[in-house]
Amino acid sequence: MASVLIALGGNVGDVRATFRKAIAHVCGMAQAALVARSSDYSTPPWGDEDQAPFVNACVEIETGLDPHALLFVMQKVEQKFGRTREKDRRWGPRTLDLDMIAYDDVSLQKPDLTLPHPRLFERAFVLVPLAEIAPDRVISGIRVRDGLSRVSPQGIVRLPDTG
Ligand code: ATP
Ligand code: CA
Ligand code: CA
Repeated sequence: MASVLIALGGNVGDVRATFRKAIAHVCGMAQAALVARSSDYSTPPWGDEDQAPFVNACVEIETGLDPHALLFVMQKVEQKFGRTREKDRRWGPRTLDLDMIAYDDVSLQKPDLTLPHPRLFERAFVLVPLAEIAPDRVISGIRVRDGLSRVSPQGIVRLPDTG
């Protein structure tokens, strides 16, 4: 079994409800166990700032699927929740974005899958939730909590649990 960290994001629709359902779908389709789930956070848009705030969260799962099979499952779940990749502008509004942050210690540079995720350490909106569930995980030689200390968490707000 592999330990996989997945980042969730979205800013269209009831994103927190989408996250709950999407996590269940990923675990079901990937025959995965949910090991940890962060809080949800409201975060300022990144890359393309002319859009609504995002909700972001991270999960750790354990799965027997290989990285590409898991990516396929994640893309199926994105589609199920209304993600329309062709029409989306890069870093623009979307119902659901699922990014594979790390898959064990696998390092991969394929056209459709880079592991660990190459932009992780630029992104407070991933590092804040990730540090909640995996502060001591070392990714690309950097401990998550140290990565977090190098970015500004400005504008990122933890959302209250919905129960
Ligand atoms: P970013 O990757 O900067 O967060 P994005 O999430 O908006 O941008 P998408 O349009 O969701 O980008 O994905 C573009 C492509 O990225 C996908 O088709 C997928 O094949 C590829 N990709 C490469 N590495 C990964 C990864 N680690 N997790 C998810 N997708 C990846
Ligand atoms: Ca992304
Ligand atoms: Ca993505």
